[in-house]
Amino acid sequence: MDYNKLADLLFPQIDKTPQEYEAMYPPRELPEGAKVTRLGPSPTGFIHLGNLYGAFVDERLAHQSGGVFYLRIEDTDDKRYVEGAVDIIINSLRFFGIDFDEGAGLDGDTGAYGDYTQSRRGPIYQCFAKKLVAEGKAYPCFLTEEEITEIRAEQEANKVNPGIYGRYAKSRQLSLEEIEEKLKAGMPYVVRLRSDGEPSGDETGRRIRVNDAIRGILEMPENFQDVVILKATGIPTYHFAHVIDDHLMRTTHVVRGAEWLSSLPVHVELFEKLGWQPPVYCHTAQLMKLDEEGNKRKLSKRKDPELSLDYYRKQGYHPAAVREYLLTILNSNFEEWRMDHPESPTEEFPFTTEKMSNSGALFDLNKLNDISKDVLLKIPAGEIYDFLRAWAQEFHPEYLHLFEDRAYMEQILDLGRKDSKPRKDLIYAEQIIKFIGYFFDDLFHIEDEMPAEVPAEDIPKILQAYLAGYDHGDDQGQWFDKIRDIAVQLGYAAKPKDFKKHPEEYKGHVGHVSTVIRIALMGRAQSPDVWTIQQILGEERTRKRIENYKG
Ligand code: GLU
Repeated sequence: MDYNKLADLLFPQIDKTPQEYEAMYPPRELPEGAKVTRLGPSPTGFIHLGNLYGAFVDERLAHQSGGVFYLRIEDTDDKRYVEGAVDIIINSLRFFGIDFDEGAGLDGDTGAYGDYTQSRRGPIYQCFAKKLVAEGKAYPCFLTEEEITEIRAEQEANKVNPGIYGRYAKSRQLSLEEIEEKLKAGMPYVVRLRSDGEPSGDETGRRIRVNDAIRGILEMPENFQDVVILKATGIPTYHFAHVIDDHLMRTTHVVRGAEWLSSLPVHVELFEKLGWQPPVYCHTAQLMKLDEEGNKRKLSKRKDPELSLDYYRKQGYHPAAVREYLLTILNSNFEEWRMDHPESPTEEFPFTTEKMSNSGALFDLNKLNDISKDVLLKIPAGEIYDFLRAWAQEFHPEYLHLFEDRAYMEQILDLGRKDSKPRKDLIYAEQIIKFIGYFFDDLFHIEDEMPAEVPAEDIPKILQAYLAGYDHGDDQGQWFDKIRDIAVQLGYAAKPKDFKKHPEEYKGHVGHVSTVIRIALMGRAQSPDVWTIQQILGEERTRKRIENYKG
Protein backbone atom coordinates (compact mmCIF):
# COMPACT_ATOMS: atom_id res chain seq x y z
CA MET A 1 0.00 0.00 0.00
CA ASP A 2 1.20 3.50 -0.80
CA TYR A 3 0.90 5.05 2.64
CA ASN A 4 1.91 8.49 1.41
CA LYS A 5 -1.03 8.45 -0.94
CA LEU A 6 -3.31 7.33 1.86
CA ALA A 7 -2.03 10.16 4.06
CA ASP A 8 -2.77 12.75 1.36
CA LEU A 9 -6.16 11.23 0.77
CA LEU A 10 -7.10 11.51 4.45
CA PHE A 11 -5.51 14.88 5.15
CA PRO A 12 -5.58 16.93 1.96
CA GLN A 13 -5.92 20.17 3.94
CA ILE A 14 -2.72 19.68 5.94
CA ASP A 15 0.01 21.68 4.28
CA LYS A 16 2.51 22.05 7.11
CA THR A 17 5.13 19.39 7.74
CA PRO A 18 6.13 18.00 11.14
CA GLN A 19 9.54 19.61 10.63
CA GLU A 20 7.90 23.00 10.36
CA TYR A 21 6.20 22.52 13.70
CA GLU A 22 9.42 21.25 15.26
CA ALA A 23 11.09 24.45 14.05
CA MET A 24 8.23 26.63 15.28
CA TYR A 25 8.51 25.11 18.76
CA PRO A 26 12.22 24.53 19.26
CA PRO A 27 13.69 23.10 22.47
CA ARG A 28 13.51 25.77 25.16
CA GLU A 29 16.56 27.72 26.10
CA LEU A 30 16.66 27.14 29.81
CA PRO A 31 19.44 26.53 32.31
CA GLU A 32 20.64 22.94 32.71
CA GLY A 33 18.22 20.94 34.85
CA ALA A 34 15.35 23.44 34.54
CA LYS A 35 12.02 21.63 34.50
CA VAL A 36 9.05 22.46 32.33
CA THR A 37 5.70 21.42 33.78
CA ARG A 38 2.10 22.04 32.95
CA LEU A 39 -1.38 21.79 34.33
CA GLY A 40 -3.87 20.41 31.86
CA PRO A 41 -7.32 20.78 33.37
CA SER A 42 -10.56 20.26 31.52
CA PRO A 43 -12.61 23.45 31.60
CA THR A 44 -15.49 21.95 33.55
CA GLY A 45 -15.65 24.80 36.05
CA PHE A 46 -15.01 22.39 38.92
CA ILE A 47 -11.55 22.72 40.32
CA HIS A 48 -10.69 20.41 43.15
CA LEU A 49 -8.10 19.63 45.73
CA GLY A 50 -6.52 17.05 43.40
CA ASN A 51 -5.88 19.82 40.85
CA LEU A 52 -4.31 21.98 43.51
CA TYR A 53 -2.25 19.07 44.80
CA GLY A 54 -0.92 18.36 41.29
CA ALA A 55 -0.47 22.04 40.48
CA PHE A 56 1.60 22.42 43.60
CA VAL A 57 3.97 19.71 42.46
CA ASP A 58 4.18 21.27 39.00
CA GLU A 59 4.78 24.71 40.40
CA ARG A 60 7.48 23.60 42.84
CA LEU A 61 9.32 21.47 40.27
CA ALA A 62 9.37 24.29 37.74
CA HIS A 63 10.12 27.22 40.00
CA GLN A 64 12.63 25.43 42.18
CA SER A 65 14.68 24.62 39.10
CA GLY A 66 14.36 27.92 37.23
CA GLY A 67 12.00 26.34 34.72
CA VAL A 68 8.54 27.09 33.38
CA PHE A 69 5.06 26.18 34.57
CA TYR A 70 2.28 26.67 32.05
CA LEU A 71 -1.47 26.21 31.73
CA ARG A 72 -2.97 24.19 28.93
CA ILE A 73 -6.70 23.88 28.54
CA GLU A 74 -7.70 20.32 27.67
CA ASP A 75 -11.06 20.80 26.06
CA THR A 76 -11.16 18.06 23.48
CA ASP A 77 -14.23 16.70 25.20
CA ASP A 78 -16.36 19.71 24.28
CA LYS A 79 -19.44 18.53 26.11
CA ARG A 80 -17.76 19.50 29.35
CA TYR A 81 -16.83 23.09 28.51
CA VAL A 82 -18.19 25.63 30.96
CA GLU A 83 -18.09 29.31 30.11
CA GLY A 84 -15.67 31.24 32.31
CA ALA A 85 -13.91 28.08 33.45
CA VAL A 86 -10.44 29.35 32.52
CA ASP A 87 -10.91 32.35 34.82
CA ILE A 88 -12.03 30.04 37.59
CA ILE A 89 -8.94 27.87 37.19
CA ILE A 90 -6.51 30.77 37.10
CA ASN A 91 -8.13 32.69 39.94
CA SER A 92 -8.56 29.69 42.23
CA LEU A 93 -4.94 28.68 41.86
CA ARG A 94 -3.70 32.25 42.17
CA PHE A 95 -5.53 32.53 45.47
CA PHE A 96 -3.42 29.65 46.77
CA GLY A 97 -0.24 31.28 45.55
CA ILE A 98 0.13 29.30 42.35
CA ASP A 99 0.87 31.37 39.27
CA PHE A 100 1.55 30.26 35.76
CA ASP A 101 4.45 31.62 33.74
CA GLU A 102 2.91 30.88 30.42
CA GLY A 103 -0.12 29.45 28.68
CA ALA A 104 -3.82 30.13 28.54
CA GLY A 105 -4.64 33.32 30.39
CA LEU A 106 -7.44 35.65 31.36
CA ASP A 107 -6.72 37.81 28.31
CA GLY A 108 -5.54 35.18 25.87
CA ASP A 109 -2.28 33.26 25.66
CA THR A 110 1.19 34.21 26.77
CA GLY A 111 4.25 32.29 25.61
CA ALA A 112 5.77 31.05 22.39
CA TYR A 113 4.50 27.47 22.53
CA GLY A 114 0.78 28.05 21.95
CA ASP A 115 -1.96 27.72 21.09
CA TYR A 116 -2.52 26.55 24.68
CA THR A 117 -6.10 25.43 24.16
CA GLN A 118 -6.38 22.00 22.61
CA SER A 119 -9.52 22.70 20.60
CA ARG A 120 -7.53 25.31 18.64
CA ARG A 121 -4.73 22.90 17.78
CA GLY A 122 -6.61 20.69 15.33
CA PRO A 123 -4.24 21.12 12.37
CA ILE A 124 -1.22 20.27 14.55
CA TYR A 125 -2.67 16.95 15.71
CA GLN A 126 -3.80 16.17 12.18
CA CYS A 127 -0.35 16.92 10.80
CA PHE A 128 1.24 14.34 13.08
CA ALA A 129 -1.55 11.86 12.49
CA LYS A 130 -0.85 12.32 8.79
CA LYS A 131 2.82 11.59 9.40
CA LEU A 132 1.97 8.35 11.23
CA VAL A 133 -0.39 7.31 8.42
CA ALA A 134 2.31 8.10 5.82
CA GLU A 135 4.69 5.82 7.71
CA GLY A 136 2.13 3.01 8.01
CA LYS A 137 1.92 3.48 11.78
CA ALA A 138 -1.69 4.63 11.85
CA TYR A 139 -4.71 3.93 9.68
CA PRO A 140 -8.34 4.93 9.16
CA CYS A 141 -10.82 2.64 10.85
CA PHE A 142 -14.38 2.44 9.58
CA LEU A 143 -15.78 0.03 12.15
CA THR A 144 -19.26 1.01 13.27
CA GLU A 145 -20.53 0.87 16.86
CA GLU A 146 -22.45 -2.32 16.00
CA GLU A 147 -19.40 -4.01 14.49
CA ILE A 148 -17.36 -3.14 17.57
CA THR A 149 -20.08 -4.60 19.80
CA GLU A 150 -20.05 -7.80 17.73
CA ILE A 151 -16.28 -8.04 17.98
CA ARG A 152 -16.51 -7.65 21.74
CA ALA A 153 -19.12 -10.40 22.00
CA GLU A 154 -16.93 -12.72 19.95
CA GLN A 155 -13.93 -11.94 22.14
CA GLU A 156 -15.94 -12.57 25.28
CA ALA A 157 -17.15 -15.89 23.92
CA ASN A 158 -13.60 -16.94 23.03
CA LYS A 159 -12.22 -15.58 26.29
CA VAL A 160 -9.60 -13.43 24.58
CA ASN A 161 -8.57 -9.86 25.33
CA PRO A 162 -11.22 -7.34 24.34
CA GLY A 163 -10.43 -4.46 22.01
CA ILE A 164 -9.41 -3.57 18.49
CA TYR A 165 -6.07 -5.20 17.73
CA GLY A 166 -4.47 -7.77 15.40
CA ARG A 167 -7.04 -9.66 13.40
CA TYR A 168 -9.93 -7.83 15.10
CA ALA A 169 -8.66 -4.58 13.67
CA LYS A 170 -10.55 -5.24 10.45
CA SER A 171 -9.81 -1.91 8.81
CA ARG A 172 -6.10 -2.68 8.94
CA GLN A 173 -6.57 -4.96 5.96
CA LEU A 174 -8.42 -2.52 3.69
CA SER A 175 -6.78 -1.71 0.36
CA LEU A 176 -6.29 1.87 -0.79
CA GLU A 177 -9.13 1.41 -3.28
CA GLU A 178 -11.51 0.15 -0.62
CA ILE A 179 -10.63 3.10 1.59
CA GLU A 180 -11.16 5.52 -1.28
CA GLU A 181 -14.57 4.06 -1.91
CA LYS A 182 -15.64 4.36 1.73
CA LEU A 183 -14.42 7.92 1.85
CA LYS A 184 -16.35 8.73 -1.31
CA ALA A 185 -19.45 7.20 0.22
CA GLY A 186 -18.95 9.60 3.15
CA MET A 187 -18.46 6.86 5.74
CA PRO A 188 -17.25 8.24 9.06
CA TYR A 189 -13.93 6.95 10.36
CA VAL A 190 -11.48 7.36 13.19
CA VAL A 191 -7.69 7.17 12.95
CA ARG A 192 -6.12 4.36 14.95
CA LEU A 193 -2.57 3.62 15.93
CA ARG A 194 -1.26 0.43 14.27
CA SER A 195 0.17 -1.12 17.41
CA ASP A 196 3.15 -3.48 17.23
CA GLY A 197 2.37 -4.89 20.65
CA GLU A 198 1.49 -8.50 21.27
CA PRO A 199 -1.71 -9.33 23.08
CA SER A 200 -0.43 -11.70 25.70
CA GLY A 201 -2.14 -9.93 28.55
CA ASP A 202 -0.07 -11.78 31.13
CA GLU A 203 3.44 -12.03 32.58
CA THR A 204 4.81 -13.87 29.55
CA GLY A 205 4.39 -10.96 27.16
CA ARG A 206 6.70 -8.08 26.36
CA ARG A 207 6.86 -5.42 29.02
CA ILE A 208 7.73 -1.77 29.19
CA ARG A 209 9.82 -0.14 31.90
CA VAL A 210 9.25 3.44 32.91
CA ASN A 211 11.12 5.26 35.65
CA ASP A 212 8.38 7.25 37.35
CA ALA A 213 9.78 10.10 39.46
CA ILE A 214 7.35 9.34 42.29
CA ARG A 215 6.89 5.59 41.97
CA GLY A 216 10.28 4.44 40.78
CA ILE A 217 10.62 1.78 38.08
CA LEU A 218 7.26 0.68 36.72
CA GLU A 219 7.02 -2.51 34.73
CA MET A 220 3.87 -3.03 32.74
CA PRO A 221 2.70 -5.14 29.81
CA GLU A 222 3.25 -3.26 26.56
CA ASN A 223 0.31 -1.79 24.68
CA PHE A 224 -1.23 -3.91 21.96
CA GLN A 225 -4.45 -2.02 21.29
CA ASP A 226 -4.96 -0.04 18.12
CA VAL A 227 -6.10 2.92 20.18
CA VAL A 228 -7.98 5.78 18.56
CA ILE A 229 -5.77 8.81 18.08
CA LEU A 230 -8.17 11.01 16.13
CA LYS A 231 -11.91 10.79 16.64
CA ALA A 232 -14.35 10.91 13.72
CA THR A 233 -14.54 14.68 14.18
CA GLY A 234 -10.76 15.02 13.64
CA ILE A 235 -10.35 15.88 17.33
CA PRO A 236 -7.60 13.98 19.12
CA THR A 237 -8.08 11.64 22.05
CA TYR A 238 -6.40 12.45 25.36
CA HIS A 239 -3.60 10.00 24.50
CA PHE A 240 -2.64 11.65 21.25
CA ALA A 241 -3.07 15.24 22.46
CA HIS A 242 -0.91 14.51 25.49
CA VAL A 243 1.94 13.12 23.41
CA ILE A 244 1.86 15.83 20.73
CA ASP A 245 1.40 18.73 23.12
CA ASP A 246 3.90 17.68 25.72
CA HIS A 247 6.47 17.10 23.02
CA LEU A 248 5.92 20.35 21.13
CA MET A 249 5.53 22.44 24.28
CA ARG A 250 8.75 20.86 25.50
CA THR A 251 7.36 19.60 28.78
CA THR A 252 10.05 17.81 30.77
CA HIS A 253 7.88 16.50 33.64
CA VAL A 254 4.29 15.32 33.36
CA VAL A 255 2.60 15.39 36.76
CA ARG A 256 -0.80 13.73 36.63
CA GLY A 257 -3.15 11.54 38.63
CA ALA A 258 -2.76 7.80 39.14
CA GLU A 259 -5.83 7.22 36.96
CA TRP A 260 -3.56 7.69 33.94
CA LEU A 261 -1.16 4.89 34.91
CA SER A 262 -3.12 2.25 33.03
CA SER A 263 -2.77 4.11 29.73
CA LEU A 264 0.94 4.74 30.18
CA PRO A 265 1.86 1.86 27.80
CA VAL A 266 -0.18 3.58 25.07
CA HIS A 267 1.72 6.81 25.60
CA VAL A 268 5.06 5.04 25.58
CA GLU A 269 4.23 3.42 22.24
CA LEU A 270 3.03 6.71 20.78
CA PHE A 271 6.23 8.50 21.77
CA GLU A 272 8.23 5.65 20.27
CA LYS A 273 6.27 5.67 17.01
CA LEU A 274 6.76 9.41 16.68
CA GLY A 275 10.46 9.03 17.40
CA TRP A 276 10.39 11.26 20.45
CA GLN A 277 11.80 11.09 23.95
CA PRO A 278 8.99 10.79 26.53
CA PRO A 279 8.91 13.24 29.44
CA VAL A 280 9.58 12.17 33.02
CA TYR A 281 6.29 10.91 34.39
CA CYS A 282 5.20 11.74 37.93
CA HIS A 283 2.00 9.88 38.76
CA THR A 284 0.61 11.32 41.97
CA ALA A 285 -1.22 9.36 44.63
CA GLN A 286 -4.97 9.40 45.04
CA LEU A 287 -6.27 11.74 47.70
CA MET A 288 -7.83 9.65 50.43
CA LYS A 289 -9.65 10.31 53.67
CA LEU A 290 -10.59 8.27 56.70
CA ASP A 291 -14.33 7.69 56.80
CA GLU A 292 -16.42 7.50 59.97
CA GLU A 293 -15.53 3.84 60.42
CA GLY A 294 -11.82 4.60 60.13
CA ASN A 295 -11.44 3.09 56.66
CA LYS A 296 -9.38 4.79 53.99
CA ARG A 297 -11.36 5.76 50.94
CA LYS A 298 -10.97 8.03 47.92
CA LEU A 299 -12.24 11.58 48.32
CA SER A 300 -15.46 11.81 46.38
CA LYS A 301 -17.02 14.79 44.65
CA ARG A 302 -20.46 13.71 45.76
CA LYS A 303 -19.79 12.93 49.41
CA ASP A 304 -16.96 15.25 50.41
CA PRO A 305 -17.45 19.00 50.09
CA GLU A 306 -13.80 19.45 51.10
CA LEU A 307 -12.75 18.09 47.70
CA SER A 308 -13.79 21.35 46.06
CA LEU A 309 -11.36 24.24 46.30
CA ASP A 310 -14.32 26.56 46.77
CA TYR A 311 -14.85 24.95 50.12
CA TYR A 312 -11.60 26.41 51.49
CA ARG A 313 -12.32 29.82 50.10
CA LYS A 314 -15.86 29.91 51.40
CA GLN A 315 -14.85 28.72 54.84
CA GLY A 316 -12.07 31.28 54.70
CA TYR A 317 -8.95 29.20 55.13
CA HIS A 318 -5.88 31.33 54.73
CA PRO A 319 -3.99 30.27 51.58
CA ALA A 320 -0.74 30.04 53.54
CA ALA A 321 -2.36 27.44 55.80
CA VAL A 322 -3.58 25.37 52.87
CA ARG A 323 -0.14 25.55 51.26
CA GLU A 324 1.57 24.52 54.45
CA TYR A 325 -0.84 21.65 54.88
CA LEU A 326 -0.48 20.46 51.30
CA LEU A 327 3.26 20.32 51.76
CA THR A 328 2.87 18.05 54.77
CA ILE A 329 0.90 15.55 52.71
CA LEU A 330 3.06 16.02 49.62
CA ASN A 331 6.47 15.44 51.16
CA SER A 332 7.02 13.11 54.09
CA ASN A 333 9.98 15.12 55.36
CA PHE A 334 8.28 18.50 55.35
CA GLU A 335 7.21 18.47 58.99
CA GLU A 336 10.72 17.67 60.12
CA TRP A 337 12.06 20.51 57.99
CA ARG A 338 9.46 22.85 59.45
CA MET A 339 10.61 22.03 62.98
CA ASP A 340 14.17 22.91 62.02
CA HIS A 341 13.10 26.02 60.08
CA PRO A 342 10.10 27.44 61.94
CA GLU A 343 10.35 30.87 60.36
CA SER A 344 11.34 30.03 56.79
CA PRO A 345 8.94 30.58 53.89
CA THR A 346 7.67 27.33 52.37
CA GLU A 347 9.41 28.22 49.08
CA GLU A 348 12.71 27.38 50.76
CA PHE A 349 11.73 23.79 51.45
CA PRO A 350 13.62 21.53 49.03
CA PHE A 351 10.68 19.73 47.47
CA THR A 352 11.36 16.38 45.78
CA THR A 353 9.18 13.89 43.98
CA GLU A 354 11.05 11.01 45.66
CA LYS A 355 9.58 11.93 49.04
CA MET A 356 6.02 11.81 47.72
CA SER A 357 3.70 9.06 48.80
CA ASN A 358 2.56 6.74 46.05
CA SER A 359 0.05 4.70 47.96
CA GLY A 360 -2.58 7.33 48.65
CA ALA A 361 -2.21 10.69 50.33
CA LEU A 362 -4.34 10.94 53.43
CA PHE A 363 -6.30 14.16 53.65
CA ASP A 364 -7.46 15.17 57.11
CA LEU A 365 -9.38 18.35 57.89
CA ASN A 366 -8.47 18.19 61.58
CA LYS A 367 -4.83 18.22 60.67
CA LEU A 368 -5.40 21.16 58.33
CA ASN A 369 -7.07 22.98 61.23
CA ASP A 370 -4.14 22.30 63.54
CA ILE A 371 -1.71 23.55 60.95
CA SER A 372 -3.85 26.57 60.26
CA LYS A 373 -3.67 27.55 63.96
CA ASP A 374 0.11 27.55 63.82
CA VAL A 375 0.27 29.36 60.50
CA LEU A 376 -2.13 32.12 61.57
CA LEU A 377 -0.16 32.65 64.74
CA LYS A 378 2.75 33.85 62.63
CA ILE A 379 0.67 36.25 60.55
CA PRO A 380 0.43 39.79 61.98
CA ALA A 381 -3.04 40.90 63.07
CA GLY A 382 -3.09 43.61 60.41
CA GLU A 383 -2.70 41.05 57.66
CA ILE A 384 -5.33 38.78 59.16
CA TYR A 385 -7.63 41.79 59.30
CA ASP A 386 -7.14 42.41 55.57
CA PHE A 387 -7.65 38.77 54.78
CA LEU A 388 -10.84 38.48 56.83
CA ARG A 389 -12.23 41.67 55.42
CA ALA A 390 -11.66 40.51 51.85
CA TRP A 391 -13.31 37.22 52.72
CA ALA A 392 -16.34 38.97 54.22
CA GLN A 393 -16.56 41.22 51.18
CA GLU A 394 -16.70 38.20 48.89
CA PHE A 395 -18.75 35.72 50.88
CA HIS A 396 -20.42 37.46 53.83
CA PRO A 397 -21.06 41.16 53.27
CA GLU A 398 -23.32 41.02 56.33
CA TYR A 399 -20.11 40.92 58.42
CA LEU A 400 -18.46 43.89 56.78
CA HIS A 401 -19.54 46.29 59.53
CA LEU A 402 -17.32 44.36 61.96
CA PHE A 403 -14.36 45.82 60.13
CA GLU A 404 -15.28 49.47 60.50
CA ASP A 405 -12.97 50.03 63.46
CA ARG A 406 -9.66 48.60 62.34
CA ALA A 407 -7.81 49.17 65.61
CA TYR A 408 -10.58 47.47 67.59
CA MET A 409 -10.55 44.40 65.32
CA GLU A 410 -6.76 44.14 65.38
CA GLN A 411 -6.75 44.16 69.17
CA ILE A 412 -9.34 41.39 69.15
CA LEU A 413 -7.34 39.31 66.70
CA ASP A 414 -4.19 39.74 68.74
CA LEU A 415 -5.80 38.76 72.00
CA GLY A 416 -3.56 36.24 73.78
CA ARG A 417 -1.32 35.81 70.79
CA LYS A 418 1.66 37.67 72.22
CA ASP A 419 1.92 35.63 75.42
CA SER A 420 4.82 33.27 76.02
CA LYS A 421 2.37 30.42 75.55
CA PRO A 422 0.26 32.07 72.87
CA ARG A 423 -3.37 31.16 72.32
CA LYS A 424 -4.17 29.43 69.08
CA ASP A 425 -7.80 30.32 68.66
CA LEU A 426 -7.84 31.40 65.04
CA ILE A 427 -8.36 28.73 62.38
CA TYR A 428 -10.43 29.98 59.42
CA ALA A 429 -12.59 33.01 58.73
CA GLU A 430 -15.99 31.44 59.36
CA GLN A 431 -14.76 30.02 62.67
CA ILE A 432 -12.93 33.23 63.63
CA ILE A 433 -16.04 35.38 63.19
CA LYS A 434 -17.99 32.98 65.41
CA PHE A 435 -15.17 32.88 67.92
CA ILE A 436 -14.85 36.65 68.29
CA GLY A 437 -18.56 37.40 67.79
CA TYR A 438 -19.06 38.49 71.45
CA PHE A 439 -16.97 41.60 70.85
CA PHE A 440 -19.80 42.95 68.72
CA ASP A 441 -23.16 43.76 70.21
CA ASP A 442 -25.15 42.48 67.27
CA LEU A 443 -23.44 39.07 67.33
CA PHE A 444 -23.25 38.78 71.11
CA HIS A 445 -25.58 36.26 72.70
CA ILE A 446 -25.59 34.05 75.75
CA GLU A 447 -24.42 30.59 74.74
CA ASP A 448 -23.58 28.85 78.00
CA GLU A 449 -25.38 28.04 81.22
CA MET A 450 -24.50 29.72 84.48
CA PRO A 451 -22.47 27.42 86.79
CA ALA A 452 -24.64 24.98 88.75
CA GLU A 453 -22.85 25.94 92.01
CA VAL A 454 -24.32 29.44 91.89
CA PRO A 455 -27.99 29.64 92.94
CA ALA A 456 -30.15 31.80 90.68
CA GLU A 457 -30.75 34.45 93.34
CA ASP A 458 -26.97 35.02 93.64
CA ILE A 459 -26.54 36.03 90.02
CA PRO A 460 -27.99 39.53 90.25
CA LYS A 461 -26.18 39.97 93.56
CA ILE A 462 -22.84 39.12 92.00
CA LEU A 463 -23.43 41.32 88.99
CA GLN A 464 -24.64 44.28 91.01
CA ALA A 465 -21.69 44.09 93.37
CA TYR A 466 -19.36 43.80 90.42
CA LEU A 467 -20.84 46.83 88.71
CA ALA A 468 -20.80 48.87 91.90
CA GLY A 469 -17.10 48.28 92.41
CA TYR A 470 -16.10 48.39 88.79
CA ASP A 471 -13.23 50.73 87.94
CA HIS A 472 -12.01 50.50 84.38
CA GLY A 473 -8.61 51.81 85.49
CA ASP A 474 -7.98 48.84 87.84
CA ASP A 475 -5.01 46.71 86.94
CA GLN A 476 -5.42 42.97 86.68
CA GLY A 477 -4.51 42.40 90.33
CA GLN A 478 -6.89 45.03 91.70
CA TRP A 479 -9.62 43.76 89.47
CA PHE A 480 -9.30 40.20 90.69
CA ASP A 481 -9.11 41.24 94.36
CA LYS A 482 -12.53 42.80 93.94
CA ILE A 483 -13.99 39.60 92.53
CA ARG A 484 -12.50 37.68 95.40
CA ASP A 485 -14.13 40.08 97.88
CA ILE A 486 -17.50 39.59 96.23
CA ALA A 487 -17.03 35.84 96.38
CA VAL A 488 -16.17 35.82 100.07
CA GLN A 489 -19.02 38.16 100.97
CA LEU A 490 -21.53 35.90 99.27
CA GLY A 491 -20.22 32.66 100.79
CA TYR A 492 -17.86 31.35 98.14
CA ALA A 493 -14.29 30.18 98.81
CA ALA A 494 -11.58 32.68 97.89
CA LYS A 495 -9.48 29.82 96.49
CA PRO A 496 -10.63 26.74 94.60
CA LYS A 497 -8.49 24.51 96.79
CA ASP A 498 -10.28 25.68 99.97
CA PHE A 499 -13.56 24.71 98.39
CA LYS A 500 -12.15 21.31 97.41
CA LYS A 501 -11.00 20.66 100.97
CA HIS A 502 -14.22 21.79 102.67
CA PRO A 503 -17.02 21.76 100.15
CA GLU A 504 -19.60 21.78 102.94
CA GLU A 505 -18.47 25.25 104.05
CA TYR A 506 -19.01 27.08 100.74
CA LYS A 507 -21.51 27.40 97.90
CA GLY A 508 -18.67 27.27 95.41
CA HIS A 509 -15.44 29.16 94.83
CA VAL A 510 -14.15 32.34 93.24
CA GLY A 511 -13.91 30.64 89.83
CA HIS A 512 -17.68 30.11 89.81
CA VAL A 513 -18.24 33.74 90.64
CA SER A 514 -15.95 34.91 87.87
CA THR A 515 -17.69 32.56 85.47
CA VAL A 516 -20.94 34.39 86.18
CA ILE A 517 -19.24 37.63 85.15
CA ARG A 518 -17.65 35.97 82.14
CA ILE A 519 -21.01 34.69 80.90
CA ALA A 520 -22.66 38.06 81.39
CA LEU A 521 -19.84 39.72 79.45
CA MET A 522 -19.09 37.15 76.75
CA GLY A 523 -21.96 34.71 76.82
CA ARG A 524 -19.44 31.91 77.29
CA ALA A 525 -17.98 29.98 80.17
CA GLN A 526 -14.64 29.67 78.35
CA SER A 527 -12.79 32.63 76.90
CA PRO A 528 -9.46 34.39 76.98
CA ASP A 529 -8.61 36.49 80.01
CA VAL A 530 -11.61 38.56 81.18
CA TRP A 531 -9.68 41.62 82.35
CA THR A 532 -7.96 41.91 78.95
CA ILE A 533 -11.23 41.47 77.12
CA GLN A 534 -12.78 44.27 79.16
CA GLN A 535 -9.90 46.53 78.23
CA ILE A 536 -10.68 45.87 74.57
CA LEU A 537 -14.46 46.14 74.97
CA GLY A 538 -14.03 49.49 76.72
CA GLU A 539 -15.77 50.75 79.86
CA GLU A 540 -19.11 51.60 78.33
CA ARG A 541 -19.67 48.30 76.58
CA THR A 542 -18.47 46.38 79.64
CA ARG A 543 -20.88 48.14 81.97
CA LYS A 544 -23.78 47.74 79.54
CA ARG A 545 -23.25 44.00 79.24
CA ILE A 546 -23.35 43.57 83.02
CA GLU A 547 -26.36 45.86 83.38
CA ASN A 548 -28.23 44.20 80.56
CA TYR A 549 -27.72 40.62 81.64
CA LYS A 550 -31.03 38.83 82.01
CA GLY A 551 -30.86 35.21 83.06
N1 GLU B 1 -7.05 16.76 31.07
C1 GLU B 1 -6.54 15.76 31.96
C2 GLU B 1 -7.41 15.74 33.21
O1 GLU B 1 -8.14 16.67 33.45
C3 GLU B 1 -5.12 16.08 32.33
C4 GLU B 1 -4.28 14.93 32.61
C5 GLU B 1 -2.82 15.30 32.44
O2 GLU B 1 -2.35 16.13 33.22
O3 GLU B 1 -2.18 14.78 31.56
O4 GLU B 1 -7.40 14.79 33.94
